[in-house]
Parts: sequence; C-alpha cells; structure tokens
Amino acid sequence: MQSVKQVLSGEMLGMPVDVRGWIYRIRSSGSIIFAIVRDSTGIIQVTVKKGAVPEHDFEAVASSGIESSVTVEGTLAEDKRAPGGYEVRATGFTVVGPSEPFPITEYQSTELLLDKRHLWIRSREQTAVMKIKDSLLRGARNWFHENDYVEVTPPIITGVSAEDSTTLFKLKYFDRFAYLSQSAQFYLESLIYSCERVWALTPSFRAEKSRTPRHLTEFWHLEMEAAWVDNEGNMKVQEELLSAMLRSATDERAAELKHLGRDPAALSKISPPFERMSYSEAMDELQKKGCEVSWGSDLGAVEERELTKDKEQPVFVVNYPKELKPFYMKENPDDARTYKNSDLLAPEGYGEIIGGSERETDNALLIERLRDVGENMENYQWYLDLRKYGSVPHSGFGLGLERTVTWVCKLEHIRDAIPFPRTIARVYP
Ligand code: ATP
Ligand code: MG
Repeated sequence: MQSVKQVLSGEMLGMPVDVRGWIYRIRSSGSIIFAIVRDSTGIIQVTVKKGAVPEHDFEAVASSGIESSVTVEGTLAEDKRAPGGYEVRATGFTVVGPSEPFPITEYQSTELLLDKRHLWIRSREQTAVMKIKDSLLRGARNWFHENDYVEVTPPIITGVSAEDSTTLFKLKYFDRFAYLSQSAQFYLESLIYSCERVWALTPSFRAEKSRTPRHLTEFWHLEMEAAWVDNEGNMKVQEELLSAMLRSATDERAAELKHLGRDPAALSKISPPFERMSYSEAMDELQKKGCEVSWGSDLGAVEERELTKDKEQPVFVVNYPKELKPFYMKENPDDARTYKNSDLLAPEGYGEIIGGSERETDNALLIERLRDVGENMENYQWYLDLRKYGSVPHSGFGLGLERTVTWVCKLEHIRDAIPFPRTIARVYP
C-alpha cells in the first residue's frame, strides 16, 4: 500500500501501485471511469476501463458517489492533465464503504457547513489547516525543548478568574461553584519556583458574548512563564518561538500553505527582531490615520487592523495603560500609568495573537488592585503566597493558537482554524 504522496513522487512509474482512500470526484462515460481519489496526503486520478476490473466492481464504482471509500490496484502512468501529473490505470477497484449522496456540494451556506462540520472537515482546505497547525505546534514544542522549558499540565477546573470575571464559565462543582480556566497563567507562575521555565498547551474558556471573527468560547492556549525574565526578555522569547513555529510550518507544509493562498517563502522571511511600538506611539499613529481614539482607548480589531494592515512582520505594542489590562502586570517604572506588557499583533490586519507581561511581584500593589476591582481576596491567598517565599522577577505570555492559525492560513474567520468551533451560537456538532 502506498500513500498518494508516495505515488505522486513518480518513483514507481510503470510499476504496480496500491492506494486506498475516498472518492473525491468521479465521472463515467459508460466504458471508462475517471475518478479522483484522495487520502490524507493528496489526490490522484484513477482511470478504469470496462473489462479491466471484474464487471461487478466496475458497476459498483460507476454507481458510487463521492466520499465512498475505495481500494485501488493498478499501474502508474504519466498524464500531464491529471492533478500531480500521474494517474493510476486500475486493474482492481473496490468500493469498501459506499456513500449516500454527500450533503455538501460546491456552493453551500456557512450555516450548512457548520451544521455538517463533522463532514466538512474532510475538505482539502480544512485538512490543510489541520496539518499546518500540527507543524506549528511541533515547531513550538521543539523550540521549548531546545530552550530547556518544561512542559507542564495545569488544571482546567479553577476557583479564580485570571482574566476577565465577566467572561467566566461557571460550573456546579458538587456543593459549590468552580470555573473553567481562562488561562493557566497563575498555575504556571507557581511552577517556575521549581522548574524555572515552563509551558503548557491547554484549552481556555471564555464566555465571549459578542460575535466576532476572532473570538471563540473555547480556544487552545499556548502559555509560557519564566523566572528571571523581564518584559524585554519575554518579547525575545515570543519572537523566537513564533519564528520557529513558522519555520516548522513552511518546511513541512509548503504545499498546504500554497493551497490556502499563503506564500510560504514570504512567511519564512519573518524573523526576529520584531518592531516594537509603545501604546502611546500607536495612539499617535492611529490619530494621524484619522481614527477617533485618545490616550486610554482600548485597541480593538479595527485599530489593530489599521496598525498592521501594511506590515509584513508582526509588531509588538508595549506599555498599555493599566486600566486596559489585568491586575497582575508589573508597573512600568518609567511611566506609572502603564504596565510592562506587550501585545503581539500579526501583520496584514490580523491583529493580536499574543498577550504577555512581566508580572507584579509587590504584594501590596496586587492587593490594592484586587480590592479596586472587587475580587474576593480569599481566592487569591495562594497566588499572593507566591510572592512571599523567594519571589523572583518573572514574565510570561499566552499565544492564541487559532488566532495564529487564522493569520498563517490567511483565513477570514477564526472558526475555520479549529475543527469544531465553539461560539455563543453553537455547540453542535
Ligand atoms: P482580546 O482583547 O482580543 O479579547 P485578550 O486581551 O482577551 O484578547 P489575552 O487574555 O491576552 O487576550 O489572551 C491571550 C491570547 O489568547 C490572545 O492574544 C489571543 O490570541 C487569545 N485569545 C484570547 N481570547 C480569545 C478568544 N475568545 N478566542 C480565541 N483566542 C483568544
Ligand atoms: Mg478578550
């Protein structure tokens, strides 16, 4: 048995080959069948002449619909018009699992594609997205390993809000309540006192009530935390990590990237250092471009698009006003109105893919800020403990995997960056 990719390498030209997969397209002219068969590695043309295979197999294939699963034996021949330049001339062609008429045809509404998501994920676009994601993740994992980070496994059921208490998913937990994790950050922070550099890939949950093309209610969060690292060091980790992820994707998935309309050569040029722009500079630039913003305004999708639509490399925006960010960030000694933090914005208008900061180590400041936002102090005692026993300067960040995939794969909507998107409107299938 060979994969379609192996067959398309042409090495077995003139020789017998065996492939199996699903019918992608099929047409028959009575005495000859042209089928395109796909497997997980690609698509290949198969031709079957009447008489070349047993009659009942010929009839079964001729009457089978797309998505039927099949096995093919035949000889590999060149054919300039076939996808990939080769075809299999079948001497055996068997239907393994016939398909009912496939409910997805060429032009379909977004709603139908979401209702039939379990079938739509077979599409070549969705397959390419999943493979590119696989390579991005391998690139990340390798980079962390080469740089002495320890992969850890934080909890998903938590008692505190790490980000925004208005987007917490509350869950009945025996005789009390708990929450689904919005970020593993606090748990990663507690692990740096032994492991020093840690990372984790976990789902994060946020009850995002507005429908946007870049928010899911469940997304995969790649987070890291490191002792002895300041905000500048934190940005260096981000630009190196992201570049390594991109290299892994362009090395392993050039064909898939091209299929999605993304030039892998342009992506592979992205390398450190990324541009750094302060929040104040960003405000000036936005005002010059005619945006109605003033110092203190948040950067939303519109503003981030303005800032990045003409860029080819990601850009860091640093030192946001405190009011716009969570309580745990370190005060900026050069401007106490702001934090030592950064958001990394993807180019071409895609906007934020990573949020990171140096963490506040002064418990008095943390307590003051928690009181200001009305948090129940009892829930944070363990977090404050971390500053009492050998506190160290430290930093970390969270990368949104689907945000990154949306940009890398040039997608219009984040839901296409995950096989089963969860949004306010949908938990089926
Ligand atoms: P935004 O302002 O876009 O809602 P955020 O400030 O809430 O983002 P962080 O809390 O910094 O984001 O989370 C870290 C990263 O996680 C973000 O940079 C983004 O890539 C990703 N992320 C956050 N919320 C979502 C979401 N609802 N769906 C998908 N990815 C998300
Ligand atoms: Mg948010």
